[in-house]
Amino acid sequence: MPSDIVKIVWIYPDLLSTYGDRGNCIVLERRAKLRGIPTRTVNVHSDEPIPVDGDIYLLGGGEDRPQILAAQRLRADGGLHRAVEFGAAVFAVCAGYQLLGHEFGGEEGQPVDGLGLLDIRSGRGEIRAVGEIVGEVDPALEIPMITGFENHQGVTHLGSGAIPLAKTLVGIGNGNGYEGAYSGHVMGTYMHGPALVRNPALADLLLTWALKRPLQRIDDTWSGKLRTERLKTVLPTPS
Ligand code: GLN
Repeated sequence: MPSDIVKIVWIYPDLLSTYGDRGNCIVLERRAKLRGIPTRTVNVHSDEPIPVDGDIYLLGGGEDRPQILAAQRLRADGGLHRAVEFGAAVFAVCAGYQLLGHEFGGEEGQPVDGLGLLDIRSGRGEIRAVGEIVGEVDPALEIPMITGFENHQGVTHLGSGAIPLAKTLVGIGNGNGYEGAYSGHVMGTYMHGPALVRNPALADLLLTWALKRPLQRIDDTWSGKLRTERLKTVLPTPS
Protein backbone atom coordinates (compact mmCIF):
# COMPACT_ATOMS: atom_id res chain seq x y z
CA MET A 1 0.00 0.00 0.00
CA PRO A 2 1.76 3.25 -1.07
CA SER A 3 2.13 5.83 1.71
CA ASP A 4 0.75 9.32 1.08
CA ILE A 5 4.12 11.08 1.54
CA VAL A 6 5.59 11.46 -1.92
CA LYS A 7 9.36 11.16 -1.88
CA ILE A 8 10.92 13.10 -4.74
CA VAL A 9 14.55 12.33 -5.58
CA TRP A 10 16.40 14.92 -7.64
CA ILE A 11 19.32 13.10 -9.19
CA TYR A 12 22.68 14.84 -9.49
CA PRO A 13 21.84 18.55 -9.37
CA ASP A 14 25.63 19.09 -9.52
CA LEU A 15 25.83 17.51 -13.00
CA LEU A 16 22.36 17.67 -14.52
CA SER A 17 20.76 21.00 -13.84
CA THR A 18 21.74 23.36 -16.61
CA TYR A 19 18.34 24.88 -17.21
CA GLY A 20 16.56 25.54 -13.94
CA ASP A 21 15.60 21.90 -13.58
CA ARG A 22 14.74 22.44 -9.90
CA GLY A 23 11.51 23.97 -11.20
CA ASN A 24 10.25 20.43 -11.73
CA CYS A 25 10.69 19.61 -8.02
CA ILE A 26 8.92 22.84 -7.06
CA VAL A 27 5.91 22.16 -9.30
CA LEU A 28 5.52 18.59 -8.01
CA GLU A 29 5.74 19.81 -4.40
CA ARG A 30 3.27 22.62 -5.04
CA ARG A 31 0.66 20.54 -6.86
CA ALA A 32 0.84 17.87 -4.16
CA LYS A 33 0.51 20.53 -1.42
CA LEU A 34 -2.58 22.05 -3.08
CA ARG A 35 -4.21 18.66 -2.54
CA GLY A 36 -2.95 18.27 1.03
CA ILE A 37 -0.41 15.60 0.04
CA PRO A 38 2.95 15.95 1.85
CA THR A 39 6.19 15.57 -0.10
CA ARG A 40 9.82 15.16 0.82
CA THR A 41 12.49 16.13 -1.69
CA VAL A 42 15.99 14.69 -1.51
CA ASN A 43 18.81 16.13 -3.60
CA VAL A 44 21.32 13.41 -4.39
CA HIS A 45 24.72 14.63 -5.53
CA SER A 46 26.92 12.58 -7.82
CA ASP A 47 29.15 11.35 -4.96
CA GLU A 48 26.15 10.00 -3.03
CA PRO A 49 24.23 6.74 -3.43
CA ILE A 50 20.83 6.84 -5.08
CA PRO A 51 18.14 5.94 -2.51
CA VAL A 52 15.92 3.14 -3.74
CA ASP A 53 12.79 4.13 -1.80
CA GLY A 54 11.84 7.22 -3.83
CA ASP A 55 8.48 7.66 -5.51
CA ILE A 56 9.48 10.12 -8.27
CA TYR A 57 13.03 10.49 -9.64
CA LEU A 58 13.96 13.58 -11.61
CA LEU A 59 16.91 13.95 -13.98
CA GLY A 60 17.71 17.24 -15.67
CA GLY A 61 19.59 18.46 -18.71
CA GLY A 62 23.32 18.91 -18.98
CA GLU A 63 26.40 19.47 -21.09
CA ASP A 64 27.97 16.48 -22.85
CA ARG A 65 30.70 15.71 -20.30
CA PRO A 66 28.60 15.93 -17.13
CA GLN A 67 26.04 13.79 -18.98
CA ILE A 68 28.67 11.06 -19.58
CA LEU A 69 29.83 11.24 -15.96
CA ALA A 70 26.25 11.03 -14.70
CA ALA A 71 25.58 7.95 -16.86
CA GLN A 72 28.75 6.22 -15.60
CA ARG A 73 27.91 6.92 -11.96
CA LEU A 74 24.28 5.87 -12.27
CA ARG A 75 25.30 2.63 -14.00
CA ALA A 76 27.82 1.87 -11.25
CA ASP A 77 25.36 2.78 -8.49
CA GLY A 78 22.42 0.70 -9.72
CA GLY A 79 19.98 2.41 -7.33
CA LEU A 80 17.84 3.96 -10.04
CA HIS A 81 17.47 0.56 -11.73
CA ARG A 82 16.27 -0.94 -8.45
CA ALA A 83 13.84 1.92 -7.82
CA VAL A 84 12.36 1.42 -11.31
CA GLU A 85 11.98 -2.31 -10.60
CA PHE A 86 10.07 -1.33 -7.44
CA GLY A 87 7.70 0.76 -9.61
CA ALA A 88 9.02 4.31 -9.06
CA ALA A 89 8.22 7.04 -11.59
CA VAL A 90 11.06 8.70 -13.51
CA PHE A 91 10.90 12.01 -15.33
CA ALA A 92 14.02 12.90 -17.30
CA VAL A 93 14.84 15.96 -19.36
CA CYS A 94 17.13 16.17 -22.39
CA ALA A 95 20.58 14.85 -21.30
CA GLY A 96 18.76 12.92 -18.56
CA TYR A 97 16.34 11.54 -21.17
CA GLN A 98 19.15 10.40 -23.47
CA LEU A 99 21.09 8.66 -20.73
CA LEU A 100 18.06 6.56 -19.75
CA GLY A 101 18.43 4.80 -23.11
CA HIS A 102 20.82 2.09 -24.32
CA GLU A 103 23.33 4.63 -25.67
CA PHE A 104 23.79 8.29 -26.50
CA GLY A 105 26.33 10.45 -28.33
CA GLY A 106 29.28 11.85 -26.39
CA GLU A 107 31.06 15.17 -27.00
CA GLU A 108 32.69 13.83 -30.22
CA GLY A 109 29.59 11.91 -31.18
CA GLN A 110 31.09 8.64 -29.83
CA PRO A 111 28.54 6.15 -28.51
CA VAL A 112 28.34 6.17 -24.72
CA ASP A 113 26.54 3.47 -22.72
CA GLY A 114 23.31 4.58 -21.10
CA LEU A 115 21.23 2.93 -18.38
CA GLY A 116 18.95 0.88 -20.61
CA LEU A 117 15.88 1.93 -18.63
CA LEU A 118 14.14 3.14 -21.80
CA ASP A 119 14.28 1.36 -25.14
CA ILE A 120 15.82 4.31 -26.98
CA ARG A 121 19.15 5.11 -28.67
CA SER A 122 20.43 8.63 -29.17
CA GLY A 123 23.19 10.00 -31.35
CA ARG A 124 24.29 13.39 -32.63
CA GLY A 125 22.11 15.07 -35.22
CA GLU A 126 23.18 17.30 -38.11
CA ILE A 127 21.79 20.44 -36.56
CA ARG A 128 21.22 21.74 -33.07
CA ALA A 129 17.50 21.84 -32.26
CA VAL A 130 16.77 25.13 -30.51
CA GLY A 131 13.33 26.66 -30.06
CA GLU A 132 9.75 26.13 -29.03
CA ILE A 133 8.29 22.67 -29.04
CA VAL A 134 4.63 21.65 -28.98
CA GLY A 135 3.32 18.12 -29.11
CA GLU A 136 0.04 16.24 -29.16
CA VAL A 137 0.37 13.72 -26.36
CA ASP A 138 -0.18 9.98 -26.77
CA PRO A 139 -3.96 9.60 -26.18
CA ALA A 140 -3.37 6.76 -23.67
CA LEU A 141 -1.94 9.32 -21.21
CA GLU A 142 -5.10 11.48 -21.37
CA ILE A 143 -3.35 14.83 -20.97
CA PRO A 144 -3.48 17.99 -23.09
CA MET A 145 -0.83 19.21 -25.54
CA ILE A 146 2.66 19.65 -24.18
CA THR A 147 4.55 22.87 -24.69
CA GLY A 148 8.18 23.64 -23.94
CA PHE A 149 11.55 24.82 -25.20
CA GLU A 150 14.26 22.56 -26.60
CA ASN A 151 18.03 22.94 -26.98
CA HIS A 152 19.95 19.81 -27.96
CA GLN A 153 22.14 18.26 -30.60
CA GLY A 154 20.96 14.72 -30.06
CA VAL A 155 18.44 12.76 -32.08
CA THR A 156 16.65 9.80 -30.54
CA HIS A 157 15.36 6.56 -32.06
CA LEU A 158 12.75 4.57 -30.21
CA GLY A 159 12.79 0.77 -30.06
CA SER A 160 9.61 -1.28 -29.87
CA GLY A 161 9.66 -1.11 -26.05
CA ALA A 162 9.19 2.67 -25.89
CA ILE A 163 6.14 4.74 -26.81
CA PRO A 164 6.53 8.30 -28.15
CA LEU A 165 5.33 10.83 -25.58
CA ALA A 166 3.89 13.13 -28.23
CA LYS A 167 3.54 13.83 -31.95
CA THR A 168 5.54 16.97 -32.66
CA LEU A 169 3.49 19.88 -34.01
CA VAL A 170 6.22 22.50 -33.56
CA GLY A 171 9.93 21.83 -33.07
CA ILE A 172 12.24 18.86 -33.59
CA GLY A 173 11.97 16.61 -30.50
CA ASN A 174 13.36 13.14 -31.23
CA GLY A 175 13.98 14.20 -34.84
CA ASN A 176 11.40 11.98 -36.55
CA GLY A 177 8.11 13.79 -35.99
CA TYR A 178 7.79 12.66 -32.40
CA GLU A 179 8.94 14.01 -29.05
CA GLY A 180 10.02 12.17 -25.92
CA ALA A 181 9.28 8.60 -24.91
CA TYR A 182 7.83 6.57 -22.09
CA SER A 183 7.53 3.01 -20.98
CA GLY A 184 5.68 2.02 -17.81
CA HIS A 185 6.36 4.85 -15.36
CA VAL A 186 9.64 5.96 -16.95
CA MET A 187 9.37 9.06 -19.12
CA GLY A 188 11.82 11.30 -20.94
CA THR A 189 11.42 14.49 -22.92
CA TYR A 190 13.42 17.05 -24.86
CA MET A 191 11.39 19.84 -23.24
CA HIS A 192 13.99 21.88 -21.47
CA GLY A 193 14.49 22.42 -17.76
CA PRO A 194 11.34 23.07 -15.77
CA ALA A 195 9.04 21.35 -18.26
CA LEU A 196 6.43 20.69 -15.57
CA VAL A 197 5.89 24.43 -15.03
CA ARG A 198 4.34 24.76 -18.47
CA ASN A 199 2.71 21.35 -18.32
CA PRO A 200 1.03 20.87 -14.93
CA ALA A 201 -0.94 17.92 -16.29
CA LEU A 202 2.35 16.10 -16.72
CA ALA A 203 3.22 16.83 -13.08
CA ASP A 204 -0.16 15.44 -12.04
CA LEU A 205 0.44 12.32 -14.12
CA LEU A 206 3.69 11.69 -12.23
CA LEU A 207 1.92 12.22 -8.88
CA THR A 208 -0.79 9.79 -9.96
CA TRP A 209 1.84 7.21 -10.87
CA ALA A 210 3.54 7.75 -7.50
CA LEU A 211 0.37 7.57 -5.40
CA LYS A 212 -1.26 4.87 -7.52
CA ARG A 213 -4.60 6.64 -7.28
CA PRO A 214 -6.45 9.45 -9.08
CA LEU A 215 -5.88 13.01 -7.85
CA GLN A 216 -8.42 15.50 -6.66
CA ARG A 217 -9.04 18.24 -9.29
CA ILE A 218 -7.63 21.70 -8.56
CA ASP A 219 -8.37 25.09 -10.05
CA ASP A 220 -6.08 25.52 -13.06
CA THR A 221 -7.64 28.70 -14.47
CA TRP A 222 -4.44 30.74 -14.37
CA SER A 223 -2.04 28.11 -15.62
CA GLY A 224 -4.65 27.28 -18.29
CA LYS A 225 -4.75 30.92 -19.43
CA LEU A 226 -0.96 31.09 -19.64
CA ARG A 227 -0.85 27.88 -21.65
CA THR A 228 -3.50 29.10 -24.08
CA GLU A 229 -1.62 32.37 -24.55
CA ARG A 230 1.65 30.50 -25.18
CA LEU A 231 0.06 28.02 -27.59
CA LYS A 232 -1.54 30.89 -29.56
CA THR A 233 1.85 32.49 -30.16
CA VAL A 234 3.65 29.27 -31.00
CA LEU A 235 1.20 27.15 -33.01
CA PRO A 236 1.02 27.94 -36.75
CA THR A 237 -2.19 29.83 -37.60
CA PRO A 238 -4.41 27.79 -39.94
CA SER A 239 -4.32 29.27 -43.48
N1 GLN B 1 24.24 16.97 -24.62
C1 GLN B 1 22.93 16.61 -25.09
C2 GLN B 1 22.60 17.12 -26.50
O1 GLN B 1 23.07 18.16 -26.92
C3 GLN B 1 21.91 17.10 -24.09
C4 GLN B 1 21.81 18.59 -24.05
C5 GLN B 1 20.82 19.11 -23.06
O2 GLN B 1 20.60 18.54 -22.00
N2 GLN B 1 20.23 20.24 -23.39
O3 GLN B 1 21.85 16.46 -27.19
